[in-house]
Amino acid sequence: MKQLVDKLHKTRNLSPEEYKELIDNRNPEVAEYLFEKARAVRVKNYGHDVYIRGLIEFTNYCRNDCYYCGIRRSNCCADRYRLTKEQILECCETGYNLGFRTFVLQGGEDRYFTDEKMVDIIRSIKANYPDCAITLSIGEKSYDSYKAFFDAGADRYLLRHETANAEHYGRLHPESLSLTNRKQCLHNLKAIGYQVGCGFMVGSPYQTTDCLVEDLMFIRELNPHMVGIGPFIPHRQTPFADKKAGTLELTLFLLGIIRLMLPEVLLPATTALGTIHPKGRELGILAGANVVMPNLSPTSVRKKYMLYDNKICTGDEAAECMNCMKRRMESIGYHVTVSRGDHKSIQ
Ligand code: SAH
Repeated sequence: MKQLVDKLHKTRNLSPEEYKELIDNRNPEVAEYLFEKARAVRVKNYGHDVYIRGLIEFTNYCRNDCYYCGIRRSNCCADRYRLTKEQILECCETGYNLGFRTFVLQGGEDRYFTDEKMVDIIRSIKANYPDCAITLSIGEKSYDSYKAFFDAGADRYLLRHETANAEHYGRLHPESLSLTNRKQCLHNLKAIGYQVGCGFMVGSPYQTTDCLVEDLMFIRELNPHMVGIGPFIPHRQTPFADKKAGTLELTLFLLGIIRLMLPEVLLPATTALGTIHPKGRELGILAGANVVMPNLSPTSVRKKYMLYDNKICTGDEAAECMNCMKRRMESIGYHVTVSRGDHKSIQ
């Protein structure tokens, strides 16, 4: 297996059969070997810097009904909220003063936020904070909407592909959603000029090693600037309430593989990873990740943006989250930096 890690390190690519062999035959020794290589590649490109993104969860209304997601339309127990433009700008102000230079606006697919409203919000943030990057994570939109947001000043877009296997996609989503459209959105975002992030949940129901290999092949083909992966975690009020969560171990292994595939990729150690293990995010960084996304949402709404059960940091003020994150990173020899943290190809 170590030869496969060496080959991946050198050539940045394996065949589908080789990825499958590596994933299926992994063990703690191979994993440690992989993480050593992944860390070396990460340090070569980004040193010991950890980029921070201030996450603003601005609406939990959603028109979609993804089977895994706690804010799905059919979850009538979800206590719905929307932030006003003023509240969003306050989050940015708090974040800016704490050293954030990227704001991530994430939400369900909420028709209330028309293109016009989004453009206005994006322009206002850019006017107040011209030295900051704006990342959007608001799902599937038309080419023209994406273009309008980009022209208003949005820099990056996160849209996890969720799974690159069409049949698997169909088992995670209702029929109204398709992998074809999800992929088309990602290609449109790239064509427009966004720094683009795709990604998937590790250990989502019905996922097989073959699905993961397809995810890796899709990532290879899209060549995104960012890849967001984290373990699937069940939510009590969804059809997947009784499904098993993904593991820390497999998530870390995949982070290591992705770092070797795309040496310059922006790779977050996600909140979900921090939720399934108290040191999940630190271990994610040590497996090759270089981004963390502390929460800037007002504490009054934190508990309402529950994508999965037991989500961490739902009670803390932004400043506490930031200090906690700084300490966590220092404890493993890495440093949170004040910077936009663009992809190497743009810096
Ligand atoms: N509406 C936006 C943002 C979705 S939330 C969009 O469609 O892109 C961001 C990510 O959270 C999703 O892409 C999904 O991969 C992840 N997520 C949702 N439910 C989850 C769960 N139960 N466990 C782990 N991750 C989950």
